[in-house]
Amino acid sequence: MLPAMRYSKFFVPTLRDDPADAEVISHKLLLRAGFIRRVTSGVYDYLPIGLRVLRKIEAIVREEMDHAGAQELLMPTVQPTELWQKSGRLEKYGPELLRFNDRHAHESCLGPTHEEVICDLVSRELRSYKQLPLNLYQIQTKFRDEIRPRFGLMRGREFIMKDAYSFHADDESLAEEYQNMFDTYCRIFTRLGLKFRPVEADTGSIGGNNSHEFHVLADSGEDLIAHCSACDYAANVEKAVSIRAVPQVATAVLTIVDTPRVTSAEDVAAFLNTDVAQLVKTLVYRAVGGDNDGEIVAACVRGDDQLQEIKLAHAIGADSVELASDAELVSIGGITGFVGPMNLSARVLIDSSLNAATGLVAGANKADAHVSGFDMTRDLKDGVFADLRETRAGDACGKCGGAIELSRGIEVGHVFELGTRYAEPMEVMFQDQQGKRAVATMGCYGIGVSRLMAAIVEQCNDTSGISWPAHLAPFQISLITMGKSAEVYEASEQIYKQLQSAGVEVLWDDRKESPGVKFKDAELIGMPVQVVIADRGLKEGSAEFGVRGGDRQTVAVADVAAAAIAQLQLLSRGSV
Ligand code: ATP
Ligand code: MG
Repeated sequence: MLPAMRYSKFFVPTLRDDPADAEVISHKLLLRAGFIRRVTSGVYDYLPIGLRVLRKIEAIVREEMDHAGAQELLMPTVQPTELWQKSGRLEKYGPELLRFNDRHAHESCLGPTHEEVICDLVSRELRSYKQLPLNLYQIQTKFRDEIRPRFGLMRGREFIMKDAYSFHADDESLAEEYQNMFDTYCRIFTRLGLKFRPVEADTGSIGGNNSHEFHVLADSGEDLIAHCSACDYAANVEKAVSIRAVPQVATAVLTIVDTPRVTSAEDVAAFLNTDVAQLVKTLVYRAVGGDNDGEIVAACVRGDDQLQEIKLAHAIGADSVELASDAELVSIGGITGFVGPMNLSARVLIDSSLNAATGLVAGANKADAHVSGFDMTRDLKDGVFADLRETRAGDACGKCGGAIELSRGIEVGHVFELGTRYAEPMEVMFQDQQGKRAVATMGCYGIGVSRLMAAIVEQCNDTSGISWPAHLAPFQISLITMGKSAEVYEASEQIYKQLQSAGVEVLWDDRKESPGVKFKDAELIGMPVQVVIADRGLKEGSAEFGVRGGDRQTVAVADVAAAAIAQLQLLSRGSV
């Protein structure tokens, strides 16, 4: 339990109006209710009232991690970049890694994540398979120099993460712990009262077998989630695979057609009076990172589909892809606006929905011309088919055929089977049961603790402010004194003490402010239960209590503390 507080002494600077720079509701409300203040771009102070909620979120995370058998430790914020050199991702991580030199010209960085540091630690101490499995976690401040910090705590540059790393003698043990963490995450987000969904996630350039993200469903979410309306399939659109309906068109003779200055898929389809789905949209990209860094490739999707760049990056073994310049496009035999898959001197990747398709229209790699009657099998010899298109609402689920729906999500957690990606270069070795030296296999498991505070507010708010679940609210009861007499303050203080000794976290608004101001602040901050001691009621020996935003009931002053506590218990039932 955190201490009770008198409002008059409490540092909680609330704001009447929405701050101009806040776009999403959680950012607005956390600023207005005095939970956070901006220090600089993507960096925030957690004010006392904000810290109270953060601590409660952390306590639930910690309790469940401990319960799951993980052990808490605390690693530093500053990391020597040498370790990143050793793991091989110093350059790969890019400008999100903030690097600097100390007075001895040793280069360091601010930790955006801790695989390197934990591997360094464990590699020094691990001797035998008998010490495995091992799961170590911390709740700690991270720094990522995000290109677009925004939405307050949602995407900060400095933020608080719970990160756990597990080490195993074999993949079976890793799979077991992965499931253990998956279940633990479900428990954590359930206890936090969130509407969430675990979704299959892209494993990125790291590869690895298994990865799930946990998303809180909210319109302000930056991620797009595809999920089936009929079965449990759910995946980030970066990875989601689905089936689209494809038009059946008869084969035709390959013909060059004039399309003067008509370039976009929609315009070409209209000009040639064809279904836009019969258009082949050819995009030219440059590979970034990976074994083929700088390679120029062409990628084709149907005219009404969007290309999912992450899928393309995987298909060509790159870290990411960037649209090629006009000059690069010309260098492979293309021409802007009329590029097509035929006769290019580059690898051509084609979305699987175009496999064996006939009667298509594609760019002719000639100014002001397309080809019609294009046949994928007949007219293209060395194209490679891969899933490249972005899943759309209404597609058929690849698992059961049900309709795919799309929702926005806030990623609050991520579990990942890393395998030996870090353990190998970082030499996390042990002696196995046969006495041979072996590389440990690893998992990592992150939760965005500060992002969670914003995600909870996104789901728990109304026009007056934040409606915290009772067990997460900064205070459980808001005690409001209405009136100026000495009696009303004395009576309020009595109730304040009663509530405190009953173990309730109470914020007593003892300020000499108008009732309007006090109620507005109480609703904005979002304590679930209110107790009101007013001059007028007190004369008749009564006081009021009620839930935030609801009607209040009148009871004898002597009973109001007990009645409010009973109300609180009613609200808390079901949440642990
Ligand atoms: P995102 O795609 O949102 O950038 P990520 O994939 O980079 O997230 P991880 O490296 O998996 O994130 O980090 C673990 C968790 O840390 C995420 O699930 C998220 O909840 C949180 N997190 C990541 N970046 C930020 C950030 N900039 N601000 C706040 N929380 C973050
Ligand atoms: Mg990120």
